[in-house]
Amino acid sequence: MKKYMPAAAALTVILTFTGACSEKPDNQQTVDPAPKNEVNENQNKKEQPKPEVPLPEELLHKTDEGEAVKKLEQALNHIGYSIATDGKFDAETTWAVTDFQMQQEMQMITGIYDESTKQALKKSVENNSAVKPAAALTKPDDNLEIVSNPHEVLVLVNKNHALPEGFVPKNLVVPNVQFPFTEDLPKKQMRQVAAVALEKMFYAANDAGLELYAQSGYRSYERQDSIFASNVRAYGEEAANNFSARPGESEHQTGLTMDVSSRDVGYKLVIEFGETDEGKWLKQHAAEYGFIIRYPKGKENITQYQYEPWHLRYVGPDAAKEIMQKGITLEEYLGAQ
Ligand SMILES: [Zn+2]
Repeated sequence: MKKYMPAAAALTVILTFTGACSEKPDNQQTVDPAPKNEVNENQNKKEQPKPEVPLPEELLHKTDEGEAVKKLEQALNHIGYSIATDGKFDAETTWAVTDFQMQQEMQMITGIYDESTKQALKKSVENNSAVKPAAALTKPDDNLEIVSNPHEVLVLVNKNHALPEGFVPKNLVVPNVQFPFTEDLPKKQMRQVAAVALEKMFYAANDAGLELYAQSGYRSYERQDSIFASNVRAYGEEAANNFSARPGESEHQTGLTMDVSSRDVGYKLVIEFGETDEGKWLKQHAAEYGFIIRYPKGKENITQYQYEPWHLRYVGPDAAKEIMQKGITLEEYLGAQ
């Protein structure tokens, strides 16, 4: 995928990441999608009441280039998409056309800009009716690799490596540890290999006079999908992606992850947890049980997530010790992005 994000914007994005774990931003950080909306609103205001959005006359499809494609891209942006207006009918343009055709419930879903697509687009522009980008079809991402072996404990899952659609880990169990709630929720689960290690770690913390609480483990593809979709509805697709994991891109779907907290921070998933006795103990000892602090401080540009002292990921003791001793990320350990 082409990244059209200037460095300053990228930094803002990093600073506003919250969502590797929390379903809603938990630690007072909110994402403000205003700048993007303002642009759209201003455009609309400027062009009301009669928007002048020229539409290309000719049939256009993938691999086409030039002014006509650019016009098409501008028209698509006018009705709510935010694609590059580079005059290249690439995967992104094809996605927008296809997504639009699907939302219009057109007879021929082709990804090709033809006469009937033109008429539908014309109508949308005239009626000022905005579409919800990606409501029908997920936006493509050329950087995104689908993980081929989601079962290995060193699997890398991040914004560039997604789990296969519908992947459900085998041997999900509820670890015998403390949770700050009593309901029997699916998020209590972990893969057995990680659950056993988590229990040992919690016992050891207990021996050290500390009280860890497990907050959130396994999260299904479907659950992640509905969380992401509701964030898209609330904030728009691009903003949602900055603070909320797409389905398949959440490490919680591996079953190897548990968010952990303590009484001192009200069982919340907050940065202050790193400063509690429990948080400090975890940083020092988690690796002995095969866990790493997956999103360390100062590595936000690599993990693409903010510092999360509560998010523990099982990788096995051998890798965990090396990762924690060297103060590196799983990405760096695996030499991947
Ligand atoms: Zn988490």
